[in-house]
Amino acid sequence: MSDYLFDARIIPAIAVVGEDKSYPVGRIFCVGRNYAAHAAEMGNEVDRSAPFYFTKSPSAVELSGATTPYPPGTQNYHYEMELVVAIGAPVFRMDAKHAWEAVYAYGCGLDMTRRDLQIAEREKKRPWDLGKDVEQSAIFAPLTKATDIGVIGAQQIKLELNGELKQDALLSDMIWKVNEIISHLSGFYHLRPGDLIMTGTPAGVGPVVEGDRIDGEISGLSPVSLTIGKAE
Ligand code: MN
Repeated sequence: MSDYLFDARIIPAIAVVGEDKSYPVGRIFCVGRNYAAHAAEMGNEVDRSAPFYFTKSPSAVELSGATTPYPPGTQNYHYEMELVVAIGAPVFRMDAKHAWEAVYAYGCGLDMTRRDLQIAEREKKRPWDLGKDVEQSAIFAPLTKATDIGVIGAQQIKLELNGELKQDALLSDMIWKVNEIISHLSGFYHLRPGDLIMTGTPAGVGPVVEGDRIDGEISGLSPVSLTIGKAE
């Protein structure tokens, strides 16, 4: 018997390669404009003074292999392929040198985006929530423990739409490296196990339509896939 008025939502969780237990999701932080070529294709300059973020709710979580409906309110739903960092230890005000120690695992993720709404919000200098915090828009593949992948460096990150290569870059192209992002975020938040960071997307983003199949890969990690279903 709980004290809740109604059934609380179940905490979403992501499988971990080689583990019986899964990784329960707390918060989802997303880095904006972390690849110069993507910032340029969106008509933006890269701000090299500090990274910036938006967030997605746990209700945005969907697992790789799913079919998700084309979401309401958009005519321009986009894919963004990203490296996901899963935090595995409490972190607060941690310097970049030691920030690697907070990484539990890495994964492939998709930051699906209502691009038309994001751009409209951006132009009105409003928050990006309608564009980014979309239900079933944060797609996660099974995570791979950091100890099983080793150093994050020149791994390839790519995305195919219906078998056609659309995004193709190296993780070393990221402007803000994984440890720098964790260190910076930890100056504002008490990061905890369960917190995820989507580290930004390379160039080549584009729209999807009903029936499309997305396949994303990063060398050494489990691939992520998504099928776009009918609009609700
Ligand atoms: Mn993104």
